[in-house]
Amino acid sequence: MTLIAELRALVGAPQVLTEGDLTAWELDWRRRWRGKALAVVRPGSTAEVAAVVRACAAHGTAIVPQGGNTGLVGGGVPDASGRQVLLSLQRLNRLRAIDAANLTLTAEAGCVLQALQEAARQQGLLLPLSLAAEGSCTLGGNLATNAGGTQVLRWGNARELCLGLEVVTASGEVWQSLTGLRKDNTGYDLRDLFVGSEGTLGIITAATMKLAPLPAATATALAACETLDGALALLARARRRLGAGLTGFEVMNRFSLELVARHFPALPRPLAPAPWTVLLEHSDTEGEEQARARFEALLGEALEAGEIADAAVAESLAQSKALWQLRESIPLAQAEEGQNIKHDISLPVSAIPEFVAATDAALDRRWPGVRLVDFGHLGDGNLHYNVQAPAGADGAAFLAEQEHAVNEIVYDAVAARGGSFSAEHGVGALKREELALRKSPVALAMMRAIKAALDPQGLFNPGRML
Ligand SMILES: Cc1cc2nc3c(=O)[nH]c(=O)nc-3n(C[C@H](O)[C@H](O)[C@H](O)COP(=O)(O)OP(=O)(O)OC[C@H]3O[C@@H](n4cnc5c(N)ncnc54)[C@H](O)[C@@H]3O)c2cc1C
Repeated sequence: MTLIAELRALVGAPQVLTEGDLTAWELDWRRRWRGKALAVVRPGSTAEVAAVVRACAAHGTAIVPQGGNTGLVGGGVPDASGRQVLLSLQRLNRLRAIDAANLTLTAEAGCVLQALQEAARQQGLLLPLSLAAEGSCTLGGNLATNAGGTQVLRWGNARELCLGLEVVTASGEVWQSLTGLRKDNTGYDLRDLFVGSEGTLGIITAATMKLAPLPAATATALAACETLDGALALLARARRRLGAGLTGFEVMNRFSLELVARHFPALPRPLAPAPWTVLLEHSDTEGEEQARARFEALLGEALEAGEIADAAVAESLAQSKALWQLRESIPLAQAEEGQNIKHDISLPVSAIPEFVAATDAALDRRWPGVRLVDFGHLGDGNLHYNVQAPAGADGAAFLAEQEHAVNEIVYDAVAARGGSFSAEHGVGALKREELALRKSPVALAMMRAIKAALDPQGLFNPGRML
């Protein structure tokens, strides 16, 4: 029997797609990588995923797992060979349980993050993972990429929120470890191996995640800063004043908000353009009035100290959402503007102002007029430091011709300051060479040994990461 016929027998013919428009699965979100799948296979249960893996293993056919296809490094789409099976997890979308007393949620890999946040909220609980793609990214993809997002400074990234996993291994067995345990020292931490493995070690089919009580109130504000040093002084003050109540600290440079204004003119801009705009979020255990009062006091002090030039506190939930929309529209505004060279870097927070000044200057010396879309999660040291061609230049040509040289300048500057070339998006196809070049040989050898032990046939996501 051919593999396709076998797969149809295992998951049902309508769930094995080989013809028609498969763009939704074969083209990545950035429209940078377009592959060709042997078939798009959509199993509906863990047992079906395991059966698909066993069939593919028997035929020696590679598998590319995919969730919401919002990944930004080309890791979740097939290559152009037409020989890889695209395994979509989207039909594994059941919420299995919420244990309110244990503060945990167990759900299948294909659940959309926003749907899980909402399910938790309905029980007065918070799933504290939040990113701009939350309306379409999936829990499995979040864990496979160890997603970060806007609340990492308070809650950590996906790894820190994950307590248990269910995984289909390369031999087609199911590893069931959906524990809700905060403590479990029984040997090697297999869970942490699969989190962040970008589909190269196993297929995540379900997970148990930590929850927290919903805060009584959340306040949001924008603050305009003349310098990044001012933004860092505000961060230190907010940490002192709000402690664990500081749940978001995002930064946006002037050009990134200009792009939002150009492509989403309906969004309100409560502050005049400034070199840097900070978006702060404060979650309070008391109530709305207390939250806003604490926030206003903090911002008043920062104004007096000259750390910020202006500030606006959202007066309502709608205003607060509009402020977040400004921040979350930046990736979309960039996509509208055309191709650019993306960097998802992390640095010690203290090194960021000097890094930005030195690297902006180095890039401008080499490509006069180059434009920097610089924004991100300043509170945890993660910047999306994206390089756009000078005004009037062809963005696609700039990307094709200059990406390597731009990357060398940016990543050398990051490495010199003890940073990472991939803070949250992962390695995928985009940063494979960077990994080979910049990761220590000892670490690479251990990573290859792990891959060989868990996936000896090289079945899962070949050519990605390693
Ligand atoms: C507008 C926008 C904003 C974003 N903001 C952030 C952000 O703030 N922080 C952040 O970390 N990321 C961000 N991302 C990147 C992306 O959304 C995240 O990486 C997300 O976690 C990917 O989830 P997904 O379901 O779309 O995964 P996919 O794109 O489908 O897959 C991503 C990778 O995971 C693998 N994979 C997917 N599902 C599974 C599974 N069940 N088992 C094993 N491997 C699997 C794939 O093979 C691929 O390598 C953003 C993306 C967009 C488009």
